[in-house]
Amino acid sequence: MTAEIIDGKAFADALRAQVAGAVPAFVDATGRKPGLAVVLVGDDPASSVYVRFKGKATLEAGMESFEHRLPEVSGQAELVALVEQLNADDRVDGILVQLPLPGHMDDKAVIATIDPAKDVDGFHVANAGRLAVGEKSLVPCTPFGALALLKHRLGDLSGLEAVVLGRSNIVGKPMAQLLLQQNCTVTIAHSRTRNLPDVVRRGDIVIAAVGQPQLVRGDWLKPGATVIDVGINRIQIGDGKTRLVGDVDFDSAKEVAGAITPVPGGVGPMTIAVLLRNTLVAAHARHDLRAPEGL
Ligand code: NAD
Repeated sequence: MTAEIIDGKAFADALRAQVAGAVPAFVDATGRKPGLAVVLVGDDPASSVYVRFKGKATLEAGMESFEHRLPEVSGQAELVALVEQLNADDRVDGILVQLPLPGHMDDKAVIATIDPAKDVDGFHVANAGRLAVGEKSLVPCTPFGALALLKHRLGDLSGLEAVVLGRSNIVGKPMAQLLLQQNCTVTIAHSRTRNLPDVVRRGDIVIAAVGQPQLVRGDWLKPGATVIDVGINRIQIGDGKTRLVGDVDFDSAKEVAGAITPVPGGVGPMTIAVLLRNTLVAAHARHDLRAPEGL
């Protein structure tokens, strides 16, 4: 079998267009654009590229983008003061503090200072807790995007066996919560899981979010499984050249899976699209407006 390739880029483009299409009605209703503030501390090249992409995508969706860069040597108090200023700024509907923060800062303590209503990354404990108990919340972008791809491909997920590899607060745990809400039977596997290939083989759905290049091989999969590869890893391929690969060995997996996301072009583009979606949803909620249909 050769798997269907799930085109995350096309799906993300459609979601971004849907968000952009809903912005004018928000502007009509409120007299202002939705606004997203992104904060970057230091000049890590990868984070800097992400922040630039996010700013560009925000403007392309017709929203207002506020970019704040603090030097690497900034103190945590300075960052918290900036977050508090953004919490109080009526033009700002979403606040994203780009992670990881420099080693002298405490990610969790900083995230705790973001107003949960503006926490478009969905990392605040208030949003994580609401997700866990099944209340409306802002949901982390990457797992929300992965779920959208799954529903698009499979429709009703009820009763399916889902194996989530990875238990981070950013991807693995919220992914498992979302799948549970969809009535999947969910297994969370991690670095201490025994007989990982046997566990993965149970999955009608496999979500790989481990940060280990090409860990999941085709012979670990149930034939016909739907595989969502969240991993983004840069590997050396000789002559000083590098290549991006996922946490799944794409070449062997595509011979067994029913459908699979590629890396790049799978989950990655969904993350930014969902960030824009979350910003629009947060903006509506702040004005007691109903979120646009279908978002
Ligand atoms: P993390 O390092 O916080 O967590 C990794 C998890 O994988 C841990 O829970 C760990 O227990 C588990 N793990 C590690 N090695 C394992 C092994 N050999 N077997 C089984 N489990 C193992 O990582 P994260 O932030 O959750 O990110 C995971 C991957 O997803 C990374 O490659 C990251 O770059 C990527 N990512 C992509 C996006 C996107 O937009 N597509 C967003 C976030 C993260």
